[in-house]
Amino acid sequence: MSRAVAIALALLLGAPAWARTVRIGVFGLFHPTELSVAPPPGSSLVIEKDGGSVTMNQAVHVRLAGDRVQLLAQGVSWRVTRVHFHARDGGLTDLVLSVPGKIRRRYRGTLEIVSNRSELVPIVTMDLELAVASAVAAESPPGAPLEALKAQAVATRSFLVVHGSGHKLFDFCDTTHCQFLRQPPAPNSLAARAARETRGMVLTYLGSPFSAMFASSCGGSTKTLAELGLPARDYPYFPVDCLYCRRNADRWTRKVPGKVEGERGRLELDRQHGWSALPGNHYSVKDTDEGIVIEGAGQGHGLGLCQMGAVGMAAEGKSFREILDHYYPNTVVRADAALH
Ligand SMILES: [Zn+2]
Ligand SMILES: [Zn+2]
Repeated sequence: MSRAVAIALALLLGAPAWARTVRIGVFGLFHPTELSVAPPPGSSLVIEKDGGSVTMNQAVHVRLAGDRVQLLAQGVSWRVTRVHFHARDGGLTDLVLSVPGKIRRRYRGTLEIVSNRSELVPIVTMDLELAVASAVAAESPPGAPLEALKAQAVATRSFLVVHGSGHKLFDFCDTTHCQFLRQPPAPNSLAARAARETRGMVLTYLGSPFSAMFASSCGGSTKTLAELGLPARDYPYFPVDCLYCRRNADRWTRKVPGKVEGERGRLELDRQHGWSALPGNHYSVKDTDEGIVIEGAGQGHGLGLCQMGAVGMAAEGKSFREILDHYYPNTVVRADAALH
């Protein structure tokens, strides 16, 4: 099928006209050297590897073997440079991936496993909308109302359609570095509904989608890239008041040795402690006899959508569009088809 025909068809069917799949590197936190891949009960998986493909109806054991991957299944062993798991028709399949004794997750997609010499890297290629629903389910605070989840879904989708996460082997990882992503939520869950009801919608700034950042609780006001000393990117972010966090955010205090020396000292402190040691970016600093005392509120970098604030706004009856307008000033929500 030509690209023009594919796009025309996509528009006709109302499906997104851009990349409909994303490649997610999963289980990175576990640095696996051993994995198990299983088809759902009563089903089978096709293993595509050097030297041809085989169909398996039971679990396949995968081990790191230097720059290769060792496969063990039904008493047979192969050492291969690349391996791909998919459905009989070559498309997406249900599969269960596990790090033996540590974690087990169900995915829908195709799976590729590569060796980076010190660990196995499993990469799941999944449907964009399923990735959105999975990330909304994993990222959102428990009990969040539907409109807050819909705002999250649009932010997540915007993040996922813009590439540039810095990873070499895949588009995104499944940790907070990119987006938290566990297994797909049940189709009748609020997270799945939030993805469905905002299908294809993204945030745009000056006409283009941007990789929308969000954080769990801004502490009372959101930040700009410039305030955090970060380089300019596709959206500058704007400082936004967050009444919910002003009233409800958790407060915290940290003490660090040393003294603040004017503005330079403070910037230095940001650099040293900002992203890793402090729970959030909404804080003030003062000198005391015992060292530097940092008092703050909220959690996360404070850029873009505030998840707690979104929950607060939704509870007051605000729509997901009002929530997005509030936390991402000067942006427009567009259905993807409108961009092409
Ligand atoms: Zn990442
Ligand atoms: Zn907030």
